[in-house]
Amino acid sequence: MIDPMTLDRIRGCVVGAAVGDALGMPLEFGPKRSPNNLVRDMLPGRLPAGSFTDDTEMALALAESLLAHRPLDAADLAARFVEWYRTDPPDVGIHTGAVLSRIDVGDPWDEAVEAAQKANPDSASNGSLMRAWPVAVAHWDNLDDLLVDSWQQSRVTHPHPDCLTACAFSNAIIYHLLHGAPPETAVILASSIVRTSDAFWEVIRAAPYRDRADLQNSGWVRHTLESALWALLNTRSFEEALIQAANLGADADTAAAVTGALAGACYGLQAIPERWRLALRGAWPPRGGTLWTVDSFISLADRLAMPGAAG
Ligand SMILES: [Mg+2]
Repeated sequence: MIDPMTLDRIRGCVVGAAVGDALGMPLEFGPKRSPNNLVRDMLPGRLPAGSFTDDTEMALALAESLLAHRPLDAADLAARFVEWYRTDPPDVGIHTGAVLSRIDVGDPWDEAVEAAQKANPDSASNGSLMRAWPVAVAHWDNLDDLLVDSWQQSRVTHPHPDCLTACAFSNAIIYHLLHGAPPETAVILASSIVRTSDAFWEVIRAAPYRDRADLQNSGWVRHTLESALWALLNTRSFEEALIQAANLGADADTAAAVTGALAGACYGLQAIPERWRLALRGAWPPRGGTLWTVDSFISLADRLAMPGAAG
């Protein structure tokens, strides 16, 4: 059994990530909003208000793979990503598309990802970080398994060392938040577990001290983790953390999704504003699937965290 406080945080992580994605959706590719004019509600964009995007869709594919296989089975995960890719989703990351299109025409996943990375060796985008949280929820009580599967899920599309580091680091923070550590402590504990390059460590260390005006929030994985840590460590509630992340513009939905997983693990489901929870929606699988609402995400959280439990 999981104690009620921990379960609320686990559910907060899952719902928080999806809510962040949906809050950031209309702000993606936009400018940084003026601090006096921040978006605080779910707005329509290219999708109806409250809709989640590829960040959450790929996380759901990962979650379903973890429900079927533990430890993570990379081939199964790759097959589920390709199944999603074949639904012709409107937004597929450039690097993710390069890998999945190769698998789609028959390349084994490991050869596909190697070829895509070789074609663009410096590619270190945030496509595996944005979807990493299901590993933290599935392994909320086993840090070793959490780290191995965080790396493994990234390797399927994003094998760059920075991507592996970001996924493990973010999930290690979630682990400690779920176990009740305050945010600053969780980041320090994660830094004692996950090795980073000196350059990436400097990004993490300095993130909470950055000026908002200097944050770029691009699709580079270092920028995404920087934005999420800045938002988490400079606010005192789930709502404020997400508003700060989403209003950075640029890769707003991904920054807010990553922030949402962290802040949800910190403050719990009860701290997520009801107006956001009620607005959350999307089809899964993307075309012809069922309508997913907040209750679907809560049910997923419970199944991921308690695989043996009924229901
Ligand atoms: Mg997206």
